[in-house]
Amino acid sequence: MRQLAGTDTIKTLVITHWHDEVTGLNAALAGSGTDIIAHANTKQWLGSTIRRRGDEIRHLPLPKEQLPTRVFHDTLTLPFRGASIELGYLLQAHTDGDLYAWFPQQNILFTGPAVRSDGWPAVDESSNGFIGRFVDAYDKLAALANDNTVIVPASGALLTKAGFDEQKVMYQNLMKEMVALLRQSRSAEEVVIANPAVGLQPQWGDAGEFLDEGFRSFYGHLREGQYVGTMP
Ligand SMILES: [Zn+2]
Repeated sequence: MRQLAGTDTIKTLVITHWHDEVTGLNAALAGSGTDIIAHANTKQWLGSTIRRRGDEIRHLPLPKEQLPTRVFHDTLTLPFRGASIELGYLLQAHTDGDLYAWFPQQNILFTGPAVRSDGWPAVDESSNGFIGRFVDAYDKLAALANDNTVIVPASGALLTKAGFDEQKVMYQNLMKEMVALLRQSRSAEEVVIANPAVGLQPQWGDAGEFLDEGFRSFYGHLREGQYVGTMP
Protein backbone atom coordinates (compact mmCIF):
# COMPACT_ATOMS: atom_id res chain seq x y z
CA MET A 1 0.00 0.00 0.00
CA ARG A 2 2.79 2.36 1.01
CA GLN A 3 4.72 1.57 -2.15
CA LEU A 4 1.70 2.09 -4.33
CA ALA A 5 0.83 5.46 -2.85
CA GLY A 6 4.45 6.62 -2.49
CA THR A 7 3.70 8.05 0.94
CA ASP A 8 3.32 6.94 4.53
CA THR A 9 0.04 8.64 5.15
CA ILE A 10 -3.02 8.00 3.07
CA LYS A 11 -5.08 11.16 3.30
CA THR A 12 -7.97 10.14 1.10
CA LEU A 13 -9.51 6.84 0.07
CA VAL A 14 -12.30 6.74 -2.51
CA ILE A 15 -14.42 3.62 -2.64
CA THR A 16 -16.41 3.10 -5.83
CA HIS A 17 -19.23 0.92 -4.38
CA TRP A 18 -19.93 -1.35 -1.41
CA HIS A 19 -18.59 -4.74 -2.59
CA ASP A 20 -15.83 -6.47 -0.64
CA GLU A 21 -13.33 -6.26 -3.50
CA VAL A 22 -13.02 -2.48 -3.06
CA THR A 23 -13.65 -1.96 0.66
CA GLY A 24 -10.83 -3.99 2.26
CA LEU A 25 -8.79 -0.88 3.04
CA ASN A 26 -11.60 0.58 5.13
CA ALA A 27 -10.67 -1.77 7.99
CA ALA A 28 -6.92 -1.15 7.60
CA LEU A 29 -7.34 2.63 7.62
CA ALA A 30 -10.14 2.95 10.17
CA GLY A 31 -9.25 5.46 12.86
CA SER A 32 -6.08 6.65 11.06
CA GLY A 33 -7.58 9.99 10.07
CA THR A 34 -8.00 8.98 6.42
CA ASP A 35 -10.89 10.61 4.66
CA ILE A 36 -12.98 7.75 3.22
CA ILE A 37 -15.17 9.05 0.39
CA ALA A 38 -18.11 7.21 -1.14
CA HIS A 39 -21.55 7.78 -2.60
CA ALA A 40 -24.24 8.25 0.06
CA ASN A 41 -25.93 4.97 -0.97
CA THR A 42 -22.65 3.07 -0.60
CA LYS A 43 -22.35 4.28 2.99
CA GLN A 44 -25.90 3.09 3.64
CA TRP A 45 -25.21 -0.36 2.17
CA LEU A 46 -21.97 -0.73 4.11
CA GLY A 47 -23.86 -0.06 7.33
CA SER A 48 -26.64 -2.54 6.51
CA THR A 49 -27.37 -6.24 6.22
CA ILE A 50 -27.70 -7.04 2.52
CA ARG A 51 -29.51 -10.14 1.33
CA ARG A 52 -29.65 -11.76 -2.07
CA ARG A 53 -33.31 -11.96 -3.16
CA GLY A 54 -34.40 -11.42 0.42
CA ASP A 55 -32.68 -14.57 1.57
CA GLU A 56 -28.95 -15.42 1.62
CA ILE A 57 -26.93 -12.83 3.59
CA ARG A 58 -24.27 -11.18 1.44
CA HIS A 59 -23.03 -8.47 3.76
CA LEU A 60 -23.15 -7.59 7.45
CA PRO A 61 -22.90 -4.01 8.73
CA LEU A 62 -19.33 -2.72 9.02
CA PRO A 63 -18.27 -1.29 12.39
CA LYS A 64 -18.99 2.44 12.49
CA GLU A 65 -15.33 3.46 12.37
CA GLN A 66 -14.88 1.68 9.03
CA LEU A 67 -17.72 3.53 7.29
CA PRO A 68 -17.08 6.35 4.79
CA THR A 69 -16.37 9.66 6.51
CA ARG A 70 -17.54 11.81 3.63
CA VAL A 71 -20.36 11.14 1.15
CA PHE A 72 -21.85 12.96 -1.82
CA HIS A 73 -24.77 12.51 -4.21
CA ASP A 74 -23.89 13.78 -7.67
CA THR A 75 -20.31 14.99 -8.18
CA LEU A 76 -17.35 15.87 -5.99
CA THR A 77 -14.12 17.58 -7.06
CA LEU A 78 -10.89 16.76 -5.21
CA PRO A 79 -7.60 18.65 -5.60
CA PHE A 80 -4.91 16.44 -7.17
CA ARG A 81 -1.32 17.38 -8.08
CA GLY A 82 -2.11 20.97 -8.97
CA ALA A 83 -5.21 19.90 -10.90
CA SER A 84 -8.32 17.96 -9.90
CA ILE A 85 -10.09 14.64 -9.83
CA GLU A 86 -13.78 14.74 -10.58
CA LEU A 87 -15.79 12.00 -8.94
CA GLY A 88 -19.23 11.34 -10.37
CA TYR A 89 -22.22 9.13 -9.74
CA LEU A 90 -23.53 6.56 -12.24
CA LEU A 91 -26.99 6.00 -10.73
CA GLN A 92 -28.00 2.32 -10.74
CA ALA A 93 -25.49 0.42 -12.86
CA HIS A 94 -23.46 -2.31 -11.09
CA THR A 95 -25.01 -1.19 -7.74
CA ASP A 96 -26.87 2.03 -6.90
CA GLY A 97 -23.73 3.67 -5.51
CA ASP A 98 -21.24 3.39 -8.40
CA LEU A 99 -18.62 6.10 -8.82
CA TYR A 100 -16.27 6.96 -11.67
CA ALA A 101 -13.16 9.16 -11.39
CA TRP A 102 -12.25 11.57 -14.18
CA PHE A 103 -8.76 13.12 -14.33
CA PRO A 104 -9.26 15.91 -16.91
CA GLN A 105 -5.64 17.16 -16.86
CA GLN A 106 -4.21 13.67 -17.36
CA ASN A 107 -7.05 12.65 -19.69
CA ILE A 108 -7.61 9.45 -17.72
CA LEU A 109 -11.05 8.07 -16.98
CA PHE A 110 -11.40 5.42 -14.29
CA THR A 111 -14.81 3.95 -14.97
CA GLY A 112 -15.49 2.38 -11.59
CA PRO A 113 -17.22 -0.98 -11.30
CA ALA A 114 -19.66 -0.69 -14.21
CA VAL A 115 -17.05 -1.40 -16.91
CA ARG A 116 -14.75 -4.41 -17.28
CA SER A 117 -12.65 -5.52 -20.22
CA ASP A 118 -12.01 -9.11 -19.16
CA GLY A 119 -15.41 -10.56 -18.38
CA TRP A 120 -19.15 -10.09 -18.24
CA PRO A 121 -20.17 -7.43 -15.72
CA ALA A 122 -22.46 -7.97 -12.78
CA VAL A 123 -25.71 -6.08 -12.32
CA ASP A 124 -26.19 -6.51 -8.59
CA GLU A 125 -29.95 -6.52 -8.11
CA SER A 126 -29.57 -6.92 -4.32
CA SER A 127 -28.33 -3.31 -4.19
CA ASN A 128 -30.41 -1.95 -7.09
CA GLY A 129 -28.14 -2.50 -10.06
CA PHE A 130 -30.22 -2.13 -13.23
CA ILE A 131 -29.31 -3.07 -16.79
CA GLY A 132 -31.14 -0.04 -18.23
CA ARG A 133 -29.05 2.43 -16.29
CA PHE A 134 -25.98 0.25 -16.73
CA VAL A 135 -26.32 1.05 -20.44
CA ASP A 136 -26.93 4.73 -19.55
CA ALA A 137 -23.67 4.68 -17.57
CA TYR A 138 -21.83 3.92 -20.81
CA ASP A 139 -23.38 7.04 -22.36
CA LYS A 140 -22.40 9.18 -19.41
CA LEU A 141 -18.81 7.93 -19.44
CA ALA A 142 -18.57 8.19 -23.24
CA ALA A 143 -19.51 11.87 -22.98
CA LEU A 144 -16.48 12.54 -20.76
CA ALA A 145 -13.91 10.74 -22.91
CA ASN A 146 -12.29 11.80 -26.17
CA ASP A 147 -10.20 9.89 -28.75
CA ASN A 148 -7.04 10.17 -26.63
CA THR A 149 -8.51 9.35 -23.24
CA VAL A 150 -6.98 6.41 -21.41
CA ILE A 151 -9.94 4.46 -20.07
CA VAL A 152 -9.27 2.33 -17.01
CA PRO A 153 -11.98 -0.29 -16.39
CA ALA A 154 -12.63 -2.01 -13.06
CA SER A 155 -10.74 -5.05 -14.33
CA GLY A 156 -8.90 -6.12 -17.46
CA ALA A 157 -6.75 -4.23 -19.96
CA LEU A 158 -7.01 -0.47 -20.57
CA LEU A 159 -9.54 0.60 -23.18
CA THR A 160 -9.32 3.18 -25.95
CA LYS A 161 -12.37 5.29 -26.66
CA ALA A 162 -13.00 3.14 -29.76
CA GLY A 163 -12.85 -0.06 -27.70
CA PHE A 164 -15.13 1.48 -25.10
CA ASP A 165 -17.65 2.54 -27.76
CA GLU A 166 -17.66 -1.00 -29.17
CA GLN A 167 -18.64 -2.33 -25.75
CA LYS A 168 -21.30 0.34 -25.44
CA VAL A 169 -22.94 -0.66 -28.72
CA MET A 170 -22.72 -4.33 -27.79
CA TYR A 171 -24.58 -3.76 -24.51
CA GLN A 172 -27.15 -1.50 -26.17
CA ASN A 173 -27.94 -4.24 -28.69
CA LEU A 174 -27.94 -6.93 -26.04
CA MET A 175 -30.38 -4.94 -23.94
CA LYS A 176 -32.71 -4.54 -26.95
CA GLU A 177 -32.75 -8.32 -27.35
CA MET A 178 -33.42 -8.79 -23.64
CA VAL A 179 -36.30 -6.29 -23.79
CA ALA A 180 -37.74 -8.21 -26.75
CA LEU A 181 -37.63 -11.41 -24.66
CA LEU A 182 -39.20 -9.59 -21.70
CA ARG A 183 -42.05 -8.44 -23.92
CA GLN A 184 -42.61 -12.07 -24.93
CA SER A 185 -43.06 -12.84 -21.19
CA ARG A 186 -39.97 -15.04 -21.11
CA SER A 187 -38.49 -15.95 -17.74
CA ALA A 188 -34.90 -15.26 -16.68
CA GLU A 189 -34.16 -18.99 -17.05
CA GLU A 190 -35.43 -18.91 -20.64
CA VAL A 191 -33.29 -15.87 -21.40
CA VAL A 192 -30.18 -17.66 -20.13
CA ILE A 193 -31.06 -20.63 -22.37
CA ALA A 194 -31.83 -18.40 -25.38
CA ASN A 195 -28.43 -16.74 -24.67
CA PRO A 196 -28.56 -13.54 -26.74
CA ALA A 197 -24.87 -13.02 -25.82
CA VAL A 198 -23.72 -16.15 -27.63
CA GLY A 199 -20.61 -15.52 -29.72
CA LEU A 200 -20.20 -11.88 -28.59
CA GLN A 201 -17.17 -12.17 -26.26
CA PRO A 202 -16.17 -15.85 -26.22
CA GLN A 203 -12.98 -15.05 -24.25
CA TRP A 204 -15.14 -13.71 -21.39
CA GLY A 205 -16.66 -17.11 -20.69
CA ASP A 206 -20.25 -17.85 -19.80
CA ALA A 207 -22.66 -14.88 -19.85
CA GLY A 208 -25.33 -16.75 -17.88
CA GLU A 209 -25.08 -14.85 -14.63
CA PHE A 210 -25.01 -11.46 -16.33
CA LEU A 211 -28.07 -12.38 -18.41
CA ASP A 212 -29.92 -13.79 -15.40
CA GLU A 213 -29.27 -10.85 -13.09
CA GLY A 214 -29.57 -8.27 -15.85
CA PHE A 215 -32.92 -9.66 -16.94
CA ARG A 216 -34.28 -9.87 -13.39
CA SER A 217 -33.28 -6.25 -12.87
CA PHE A 218 -36.05 -5.27 -15.33
CA TYR A 219 -38.71 -6.48 -12.89
CA GLY A 220 -38.48 -3.40 -10.68
CA HIS A 221 -38.58 -1.07 -13.70
CA LEU A 222 -41.52 -2.33 -15.78
CA ARG A 223 -43.20 1.08 -15.68
CA GLU A 224 -40.18 2.84 -17.14
CA GLY A 225 -41.20 2.98 -20.78
CA GLN A 226 -37.91 4.53 -21.86
CA TYR A 227 -36.27 1.18 -21.10
CA VAL A 228 -38.89 -1.50 -21.66
CA GLY A 229 -41.38 0.24 -23.98
CA THR A 230 -45.05 0.53 -23.09
CA MET A 231 -46.54 -2.68 -21.82
CA PRO A 232 -49.75 -3.78 -23.54
ZN1 LIG B 1 -18.57 -5.00 -7.37
